[in-house]
Amino acid sequence: MAALSIGIAGAGLLGRLLAWRLAREGHRISVFDPALGSEPTFDGQQAAGYTAAGMLSPLAERDNSSAEVAALGWRSIALWRDVVAALQARPHFAAIGSLLLAHRGDASAAQRVLARLAAEASGTPRAQALSAAQLGALEPALQGAAHAWLLPGEGQIDCVATMQALHDEARGVRWHWQRTVAQVRPGELVFDGAPSQRFDLVFDVRGAGGRPALPVRGVRGELVWLQAPGHGLTRPVRLLHPRHRVYLVPRPGDVLLLGASEIESEDRSPVSLKSAVELMSAAHSVLPALAEARILRLDVNLRPALPDNEPRTEVAPGLVRINGLFRHGWLLAPALLEDALQACALTQPAEPLVAA
Ligand SMILES: Cc1cc2nc3c(=O)[nH]c(=O)nc-3n(C[C@H](O)[C@H](O)[C@H](O)COP(=O)(O)OP(=O)(O)OC[C@H]3O[C@@H](n4cnc5c(N)ncnc54)[C@H](O)[C@@H]3O)c2cc1C
Repeated sequence: MAALSIGIAGAGLLGRLLAWRLAREGHRISVFDPALGSEPTFDGQQAAGYTAAGMLSPLAERDNSSAEVAALGWRSIALWRDVVAALQARPHFAAIGSLLLAHRGDASAAQRVLARLAAEASGTPRAQALSAAQLGALEPALQGAAHAWLLPGEGQIDCVATMQALHDEARGVRWHWQRTVAQVRPGELVFDGAPSQRFDLVFDVRGAGGRPALPVRGVRGELVWLQAPGHGLTRPVRLLHPRHRVYLVPRPGDVLLLGASEIESEDRSPVSLKSAVELMSAAHSVLPALAEARILRLDVNLRPALPDNEPRTEVAPGLVRINGLFRHGWLLAPALLEDALQACALTQPAEPLVAA
């Protein structure tokens, strides 16, 4: 295929994955983003992709998303494995399953969630109930939960390292920082106070900044970075909680990510005491080693969501818009992009990502 000039509005998760992917196919890529540069600042203003915990949970997310999201998620886990293998930085990725825990008082809520998970399509992994002994063998550091289930095949990815690697290893891409795209039109990116630029094809992947082209809203999420030497956790863990979807995600070294609130607000101000206390006390109730953990960072961001909380791809001549990845962006991005690129005839389905 002839090399195209491609403009991308947004250098978040989708923008970086697109730029890296399309640059490998020889296209001329320009990316525009209001951020100061490619590095994370953790000030709540940048891409949500930096704040995410990187849970790849098609099964657990069935609690609040469609079967289509789950199917895209299972495909994406396989695609992330290939992407990570093709990146020289090799960001951490694992798909050894995750755990769902419930305290005794939350057993009925757990049954409701499990009923939804059981409605999963045939041929995909099912939640497996664990005895106390089985849980102890898998994750000895966990204590205090009355009920536990293994969600086989679920994964996790190091978001910050992957965002950075996709930027650093996107060969020949022209990154334009401190450039806000005011409008995305077929074959054209429009800027405030600067001439618009023409391309063969443009992508609108501005996340929560995608209004008014799409009716996207931001949904506030708060997350705690913890350092807990010797915490011993190897798999992501979710705890059923009356108010939050609490999860703990182990990262290489001694770091654990603890998330996350979900608040219908576009408030990007720092994490509230209420959210921090509730998340941390819930996590401590199943991982006693957290008592001596150190709080490295409190982070906040907006999840880009459409009215139905489902992802949306719009393909028109000269223009592709992808948005609404909500709380599943890392879970969905590779498969959504594969489908979008095929819809605009920019990729061959069987092309391997890893160089021979
Ligand atoms: C607390 C939290 C935890 C999360 N945890 C998970 C998780 O465990 N698993 C998971 O799968 N997902 C998770 N997510 C969701 C995931 O981060 C998002 O779905 C994903 O980042 C969306 O990708 P995106 O590229 O559409 O948007 P973003 O990553 O937000 O990127 C959008 C980019 O567009 C830029 N932009 C905005 N306006 C403009 C403009 N006018 N012109 C040019 N550029 C613009 C922004 O600066 C940004 O760089 C979490 C999100 C949050 C907030």
